[in-house]
Amino acid sequence: MTWDRVERLIGTGNLAALAQKRVGVIGLGSGGSFAAVSLAMSGVKQFTLIDDDLLEAANVLRHAADLSDVGRPKVEAVADLIHRRSPDAEIETIFGRIEDHSDALDRLDLLIAAVDGELAKYIINQVCLERGLTAVYAGVYARGEGGDVVIIQPNNGPCYACWAAELRGEILVSRDEDQELDYGMIGEDGTLEAEPGLWLHVVRVASAQTDIALNHLLIGTDAHREMPGNTVIMANAALEIIEGEITPPYSAVWATITRDPNCLVCGGQTRESDVSLDALMAESGIEMQQGDRE
Ligand SMILES: [Zn+2]
Repeated sequence: MTWDRVERLIGTGNLAALAQKRVGVIGLGSGGSFAAVSLAMSGVKQFTLIDDDLLEAANVLRHAADLSDVGRPKVEAVADLIHRRSPDAEIETIFGRIEDHSDALDRLDLLIAAVDGELAKYIINQVCLERGLTAVYAGVYARGEGGDVVIIQPNNGPCYACWAAELRGEILVSRDEDQELDYGMIGEDGTLEAEPGLWLHVVRVASAQTDIALNHLLIGTDAHREMPGNTVIMANAALEIIEGEITPPYSAVWATITRDPNCLVCGGQTRESDVSLDALMAESGIEMQQGDRE
């Protein structure tokens, strides 16, 4: 087992520092399984994996694990995938829901939120705010046409709730937050309400999520890069992300979403900037996919 090539990219001392960090991944579906394995392949050695699902045959075309793992908890399957690449990784697996295991976040340096649905992200937001824990969230749009990634740092910018109200306001208003969308669900007009993307499109978003997480873990080292904002919106297909402007495939738009001083979750704190992106995505026509199940 040699880390020579990763060391050359990240730096020997920085790689040693990464090995001391503990990263949590909530949701071990397509995006989360990719993120966990990719972090391990980049030098992260300590993980807390949280998910309450068993791997099903229907998952394996959109998952890092394969048919040999069907029937097992996704957390166990992904832990094995990590150990096959990084045998000395220390992995805590929690087969359950974050609501019942929030104490597991106490010793984390960073959280990857790779869950289905906006409600689950709101729950994670609350738990992270209580602990001052930074989290990186990803959302994949219907049919994998694109997606977005945001890093939420408590007391430094928006919480997930004010971020979502800014970027996804119309969607949240129009959808019952308790309603979990099934990709096979047929809407009243007879069409699919949301379709999952192909693995290759989901992991493009998850790769950005993972890279932003890795970069945050490297703050204070010479391997850290300043990012252009706290949010990146990625096009897989041509998308109208900014009104009147088509973002071509494989490109992206960066944005800085600011805290809402009246946010019901984190409100009462001062807005850091008057920069607003209320035009962004407001009339983009992008359909949100509720997470990236499978
Ligand atoms: Zn907030």
